[in-house]
Amino acid sequence: MLKIDMHTHIIPKNLPDWTSKFGYGDFIFLEHNNDNSADMMQGGKFFRRIQENCWDEKIRIDEYANFNTTVQVVCTIPVLFSYWASGKDCLETSKFLNDHISDLVARFPKNYIGLGTIPMQDTKLAIQELERIKKNGMVGIQIGSNINNRNLNEEEFFPIFEACEKLDLAVLIHPWQMMGEDDMKKYWLPWLVGMPAETSRAACSMIFGGIFEKLPKLRVCYAHAGGSFLPTIGRIEHGFNCRPDLVAIDNPINPRDYIGKFWVDSATHDIDLLKYILKLQGSSKVCFGTDYPFPLGDLEIGKFIEQSDISLLDQENIFHNATLAWLKLDKKSFGL
Ligand SMILES: [Zn+2]
Repeated sequence: MLKIDMHTHIIPKNLPDWTSKFGYGDFIFLEHNNDNSADMMQGGKFFRRIQENCWDEKIRIDEYANFNTTVQVVCTIPVLFSYWASGKDCLETSKFLNDHISDLVARFPKNYIGLGTIPMQDTKLAIQELERIKKNGMVGIQIGSNINNRNLNEEEFFPIFEACEKLDLAVLIHPWQMMGEDDMKKYWLPWLVGMPAETSRAACSMIFGGIFEKLPKLRVCYAHAGGSFLPTIGRIEHGFNCRPDLVAIDNPINPRDYIGKFWVDSATHDIDLLKYILKLQGSSKVCFGTDYPFPLGDLEIGKFIEQSDISLLDQENIFHNATLAWLKLDKKSFGL
């Protein structure tokens, strides 16, 4: 069975020293170690140690082969979004990252599919980069769950979503800059508690802000199975019904009606939760996504799905049909 992992991160082996070049900010820089790992430095501060599989395209293909998976959708690591920088500088960093991915996809068209990154803080430059990456063969973008703490329904982002719909580019929404991060650094809480909440924040903002009403052809996928959005849909719907004065002010449609209109990935680490999400979304709207190569990812690349009693038909949808539909791609592109 064709298996496409639609949620993986990649970084070029070497990054320019953007902090020195631009003269401000804490742009990410890589310091390589003797053991083939590298330290992601944010300004002068250590952010995260990463391994070769974060940049080495062949090692990645080999690691995936162990799990009979041949295709990875790649996008940058959210800490490289650089939405806090000037639009012009973020355009430059985005172009660098996008060109790296476009080149990879051109060299390994059967193994890699590319999603770009854009300067969301500058609407005009963001659209300019969307048009450029579309020409370079990218099929979508990855954006953050908030943009400098502005929710995705804010009016400056609407033309960007509109352009994605027009250009037929898919959108992956990934949690980052987690709410409450500074207040809960201990126990990895930003990743364990903040990330699911961030994704729900993005989904609720877009639904209540009427984005899906105004742009019915926009193809959006939320990472980590939509975070806490689907597991708490009962509460969200009840809030919509009991306090429409607070919730239904921009869109009168029940949030539950949007379930199945967008895609989510399968990264739940819990087969019962995945089954519940399949029941809500339908398998044609649940894409196989792992968050490789990071430790919180499904690093046995879909084994928990294959070993489950989820039907073959549903597994075919999860492992490729849902992603092919989200990205508007054909199976034939991958030799099938
Ligand atoms: Zn991720």
